[in-house]
Amino acid sequence: MGHRKMAATRILVVEDESSVRELLAATLTGAGYEVVEAANGSDAQQLVSDEDPSLILLDWMLPGMSGLEFAKWLKRDDRLSEIPIIMLTARDDENNKVQGLEAGVDDYVTKPFSTRELLARIKAVLRRAGSDASQLIRVDDRLEMDLLQHRVLAADKPVSIGPTEFKLLHFFLTHQERVYSRTQLLDLVWGRNVYIEERTVDVHIRRLRKALEPHSLENLVQTVRGVGYRFSVRPS
Ligand code: CA
Repeated sequence: MGHRKMAATRILVVEDESSVRELLAATLTGAGYEVVEAANGSDAQQLVSDEDPSLILLDWMLPGMSGLEFAKWLKRDDRLSEIPIIMLTARDDENNKVQGLEAGVDDYVTKPFSTRELLARIKAVLRRAGSDASQLIRVDDRLEMDLLQHRVLAADKPVSIGPTEFKLLHFFLTHQERVYSRTQLLDLVWGRNVYIEERTVDVHIRRLRKALEPHSLENLVQTVRGVGYRFSVRPS
């Protein structure tokens, strides 16, 4: 079987100046992040749903849709509003900061920025986003995942689950009621550049159902014929 490597933290960089974008991409890749690039707001809108980034590095000055407009759009969408945004501004403009904070932007970095400062802010924002409520994920009163303790409970009883199934279940719990193809699951759960066969997904889906079966929760992981899989609290 293939590697068990899990997906690296993915950052979406939205910046129209290619030299700055490339510099950012190189810096982030060097720091171990996976990078997705967009040169404008509308490309970024597409990528944000396709690539499921953990953080968005967003330039204020963009052609067409501005960074601020993009931030407002993102924060209006229930499925996307949790993704933290760090805004890049050309100068230390207080007015920009206030507008951005009102739009839900998490932090700022002023251009020209130092690599060190940028990486420190990214780390801090990711840490903040990972703390609070997202350490504990619940599916009504039936299923609970504790990320700190790395435990899954079904009606307070421990669910015996392997590391890949844990990761897969975590993905499903944070992306409920949506259908994912095997290819998408490979990309989003196992990560890009990991060469494993699509049927490996089926193997782990089977194991996940088996782990949930003693708790009568196996039907939460649903097969959508001809498409892929979905985690849903509604009957399939
Ligand atoms: Ca720009």
